[in-house]
Order: sequence, then structure tokens, then C-alpha cells
Amino acid sequence: MQDTLTKKLFDVDNIRKDFPILGTFSNGKPLVYFDNAATSQKSVSVINAIGDYYRNYNANIHRGVYSISIKASDAYESSKRKVSEFINAKSDREIIYTRGATESINLIAYSFGADNVNEGDEIIISEMEHHANIVPWQELCKRKNAVLKVIPVTDTGELELDEYIKLLSDKTKIVSVGHISNTLGTINPVKDIISIAKAKNTNICCIVDGAQAVHHTKVDVRNIGADFYVFSSHKMYGPMGTGVLYGRAELLEAMPPYQTGGDMIENVSFSQTTFNEIPMKFEAGTPNVEGAVGLNAAIDYINSVGFDAIYVQESELLQYATEKLMEINGLRVIGTSQNKASVISFVVKGLNAFDIGVLLDGSGVAVRTGQHCTEPLMDKLCIPGTVRVSFAFYNTIEEIDIFIDALKKAIGVLQ
Ligand code: PMP
Repeated sequence: MQDTLTKKLFDVDNIRKDFPILGTFSNGKPLVYFDNAATSQKSVSVINAIGDYYRNYNANIHRGVYSISIKASDAYESSKRKVSEFINAKSDREIIYTRGATESINLIAYSFGADNVNEGDEIIISEMEHHANIVPWQELCKRKNAVLKVIPVTDTGELELDEYIKLLSDKTKIVSVGHISNTLGTINPVKDIISIAKAKNTNICCIVDGAQAVHHTKVDVRNIGADFYVFSSHKMYGPMGTGVLYGRAELLEAMPPYQTGGDMIENVSFSQTTFNEIPMKFEAGTPNVEGAVGLNAAIDYINSVGFDAIYVQESELLQYATEKLMEINGLRVIGTSQNKASVISFVVKGLNAFDIGVLLDGSGVAVRTGQHCTEPLMDKLCIPGTVRVSFAFYNTIEEIDIFIDALKKAIGVLQ
């Protein structure tokens, strides 16, 4: 009943008009954009907010005494407040802007890692992590002679929680896991993962890579219990080049700066420098105001659609596409967990994912092929790569029909 009502309130044709690129053509065919897990498309409101900033109040922020600088500073700060409310942080002091989820994780690894990880300590990640949540920890372990431990994944693409519990030890300093897998679509029980770690030792630092989550589901960082939560604006309908690091204030206050220079300082002399308060301590140099303005508009857009409607639309797309794919001979869906976001990876027996992707492009269908920055997961699953389709709320059942048709033709050509 609730779903039917939500569905009625959600008019996908109207929504699509808000995203100019969805009305364009690719290779002479209407663009079917199914690579939303790589980056999402932008609404007119986001594009206009950025244009308005450059047309009407572009100025460097925080130091200006003149009106447009003050306006730009206000826009930057109000974007922080918007993000803070969006993920239910305690305060906007806990929101740091970075270049993306990747930089946010690197910031934690360098800054938190510097003082809190020592020789013999252990860091736990999982087999399904994106490289962005593997390599910074591997490098930290190398710098500190620490040990990286990995939670295994089941055949259906779920984390083996019993094994996770066994990996936790008195030496565990950090647990860092993805909220939603960009390759498998699995929604991980991050709240449980964190409470298990905290029950072992409240000082274990729990980090969630939310790059694939914040635009699919309502995230409440305090309810989840995360010490840090990271994501990228460009995957949530905002501009590229801006990312978020949420961190609990006590932790951020105790951490050393990640980069140094202007804006992050309090006083500078040649003998010593004192640092600004959080979050500025972690934002050296001129910030990306355009990105902040665009992200603010993107959150407004998501809120105007609403997570109930997003869930209903994306679940329908996921279910329909999964059913249609499973009907195809020789096709195997990789990642069939119970709790899944609208991301489907698949392989077709005897065929190369890249070849399928190229032929789909000829039909105007944009999909991702390869390892999806999860090479260790591919190794574990003994596959060289997958074709991945990932849906946003602006995608339609008709687009899935076009994709399935094009896929069947591609398989016919390649077999
Ligand atoms: N984590 C996950 C799960 C991702 O999917 C991605 C992007 N593919 C990242 C981290 C890195 O995000 P970015 O490239 O925007 O820094």
C-alpha cells in the first residue's frame, strides 16, 4: 500500500526532464545510462547552482570582507550544514571536504594512522573492498609494520561475519568496510559490524566507505555508530572533485593535519605554527566552493525525491533486471545477497566482458566492464571481470528492455 502510494507520487518522466543528459543520444541511439555506480548524472538544479556561483558570486572564501566573498563563504558553510543534517552528524564541525572518498580514506590513514597504529597492530578490511579502501591501509601497514586482515566473502557475496569475529583481536586498531559493494551491490550490515568491534574494544576505530550508499539509502552516522564515514559528491548527483569525510569531533580534534598551508592555520611564524580548529585544520588551501555549492543542490534534489521513492523505484529496477538477466542462457549474476542495492554484475560463459560492453555501447547503452577497482574480489571469485549495470532512480523499465534486447544481440554476435 505504502509502496503503491509512493510509486504514484513518483513520476519518472518528470524526474528525467530534470537531467538533461538523459535526453541525449549516443551512437545515434537514445542514451541508456547504466553506469551510475561509477558516476551519476546531474540535475539542472545542480548545474544551475554551479553556474550561478560562477556568474554571480565567485570569490575566494573566509578571508574576504566584500559582499560576494561573504556570500560565497556563506554558501560553503551552508553546504556543510546541509551535509551534516543529511547524514545526521552531531555538528557541521565534523564535516571535512576532500576531493572524494579516496582522499577521505587517505586522510584517515595518514592522519589517524600516524598516531594510532604501531608495529604489530592490526587493521581489518573485507574482500569486497574497492581499491580505495584497500591500498591506503596496505601502505599504512607498510609504514608501521602493522598487519592487514581481510574478512572473507561468501559465494553469494556476503561478508562472513563469523570469520570477522575471529579476526578481531586485542591488536585490532581499525575496522574499515564498505557500506554497499560497488561490484556486488551487497548492502553490508555496517551497524552490526561496528557494534561487534566496539563490544570487543570501544577504542577500535570504525570506518565506513559510504561511496555507494548515501544516494541509495538514508544514512545516519550516529545510529550506525561510525567513527568515520566517507563518500563522494559525484556519485550522489553532485559535481566531481568534492568528497566528504565525516569524523567524530573528539577524534578529529586529536588528529594531526593531513596537509598544511593556508586556511588550516591559526598563527604562523618561522619558529612555529599553530593550527586552526576543525574542520578547517583539515582543509589546507583554497577549497572547492563550486563543489560545495553543487553538492548542496544535489542533496536538495535527493531530499525532494525522497528516499522512500528512491527505494521503491530502484528496487523495482533491480528486481526486473535481475529476472530478465537470469533468463539468458549462460549468464551468471555475480553477487546475489539478500540485501542488495541496484547494482548487478554478471558474466556470460565464454565471452569477454569488455566485448559485451563495446557492443552495448553501439546500442546506446553505457555499462561498466572489468574489475571495478576490486581486483582482489575478482581473484577470490576466480573471474577476470564482469559487466556491471547500476541503476539510479531516473532509470526505467523501458531502458532495461532496451538493454536486455541489446545484450541478447551482443551475445548472438559474439558466440
Ligand atoms: N569506494 C567505493 C565503494 C567506490 O565505489 C568508489 C568509486 N568507484 C570509491 C570508494 C572511490 O570514490 P572516488 O573515486 O570518488 O574517490
